[in-house]
Amino acid sequence: MKPTAIVVGGGLGGLATALTLSTHYDVKVFEKNSWLGGKMQSIQLGEHTFDFGPNTLTMPRYFWDVLAPFIQPKEALPFQRVEQPTAHRFKDATITFTTDVAEMQRQIALIDPVSAENYPAFILEITRLFHLSEKAFLNKTFFNVKDYTKASLMKNLMAARPFQTLDAFLGHYFPNKKIRQLFNRFATYIGSSPYETPATFAMIAYFELVEGTYFLEGGPPNIAATFERVLREQGVKLHLNEPVLKFAMDGDTIRFCETEKGRYEADIFVSDMDYDVMQSLLGRKIPKRELSTSAYVELIALKEPVDLHHHNLLFSNDYVAEFKTLREGNYARKPSVYGCYPYASDSSRLPALFVLVNAPANLYASQDGLVEQVDDALQKWGIKEEQIVERKALPPHYIADTFAVRQGAIYGQASNTWKGSFFRPSNHDLKLDNLYYVGGTVHPGGGSPIVVKGGYEVAKRIIQERQEV
Ligand SMILES: Cc1cc2nc3c(=O)[nH]c(=O)nc-3n(C[C@H](O)[C@H](O)[C@H](O)COP(=O)(O)OP(=O)(O)OC[C@H]3O[C@@H](n4cnc5c(N)ncnc54)[C@H](O)[C@@H]3O)c2cc1C
Repeated sequence: MKPTAIVVGGGLGGLATALTLSTHYDVKVFEKNSWLGGKMQSIQLGEHTFDFGPNTLTMPRYFWDVLAPFIQPKEALPFQRVEQPTAHRFKDATITFTTDVAEMQRQIALIDPVSAENYPAFILEITRLFHLSEKAFLNKTFFNVKDYTKASLMKNLMAARPFQTLDAFLGHYFPNKKIRQLFNRFATYIGSSPYETPATFAMIAYFELVEGTYFLEGGPPNIAATFERVLREQGVKLHLNEPVLKFAMDGDTIRFCETEKGRYEADIFVSDMDYDVMQSLLGRKIPKRELSTSAYVELIALKEPVDLHHHNLLFSNDYVAEFKTLREGNYARKPSVYGCYPYASDSSRLPALFVLVNAPANLYASQDGLVEQVDDALQKWGIKEEQIVERKALPPHYIADTFAVRQGAIYGQASNTWKGSFFRPSNHDLKLDNLYYVGGTVHPGGGSPIVVKGGYEVAKRIIQERQEV
């Protein structure tokens, strides 16, 4: 008989863990909602389908790695490149990202020739930062104090520019404010401020600018659907609509968890839940910490195709003020607005726009004027009211309530200090021997490829280290 594992939370982190564990454990997944994939959710508005959560898909190989022991991953998830994925619009200029260095230089030179000249050196440095981060952080799990105090970790950390801010790092290459803003935006992928977060996170730019941006026909939720299919084939038991309500402990071990339907024992437990919410389920005090940003989303069903790229960004004029206001717990008065238009890559879908404004991790922040800001963005994108079939707002409360997330903060602890960035909650409970953590609120952090990679690495280490296997 195989030992048993319970994964609490069927987000991408939980699914990657469950699948990897399934070769050595008898696995059950408990999910509070009726679907798997967590924030990677398909939402229907009349006939229009929207992809909530991950819209920008990067690093296909992290998804393929998890599936490879079970199926032909590239056939199951045939990611396709989006050649000109993101159009960034300033008041008086537009830059469209591409992995073609010469083309990026050409576009940047129209704004600032010095920044254009320095672009290849920037690409070299973010490539170095990515490979270093992959080796030192993404391939590694953090289970105990020893993992945090290894000399090799300290050496790699020091080489990863931990004490320089992202904005200061970019200033070294790009004297022009607009060009810095383009790449400062990558801090929002971890819900943090580019004026505070360590330059290490410039490595996020590597994903899009070097390896590229991708799409899947039918949308990102196909990833969750593929994981679900393989999990079922592996005999993993999927308990949907069954939130875990309680854990019962015996000394340094969790004995069982409890749902409305019953008690379930297991040898090990893995939490894919928001880390702080999980701590409160364990009856522990939730620590004070600065939280990452949340999101105010609008789903806009369109009558007809419009002239947009797959990813579209309208930048605010004052990025510094925008992040300062967010950190103070309020919405920016004139925020940057992101719009995802999958029809640009996949015309088999009905035209629809997913609009996102960065929101503070404060469910009580005033949303006065937000709808007008989205209206203004729609107008700038050339979308007229008569082209809209239906429109629906999903404020941060939606994230907080649907996925059980503290203050709707997408990435848990903010990465606005070097400590907050490199000392995220660990992957193994420090007191309970058979409790592990995966997902976007613990090491190595959020973003769909990163939580999948994290879950995969945690599961491999559990298999390697636990004696019951
Ligand atoms: C609006 C938005 C836009 C984003 N854009 C991108 C993007 O463009 N690219 C990208 O890569 N990433 C993006 N992300 C981030 C990405 O979606 C997340 O980092 C990732 O999906 C998180 O996966 P997870 O497994 O950690 O958590 P989740 O997906 O939150 O999964 C946790 C699961 O646990 C369940 N749960 C909670 N409590 C319980 C309980 N008591 N019992 C059982 N189940 C429970 C929840 O219902 C949920 O399904 C975005 C996120 C949001 C919200």
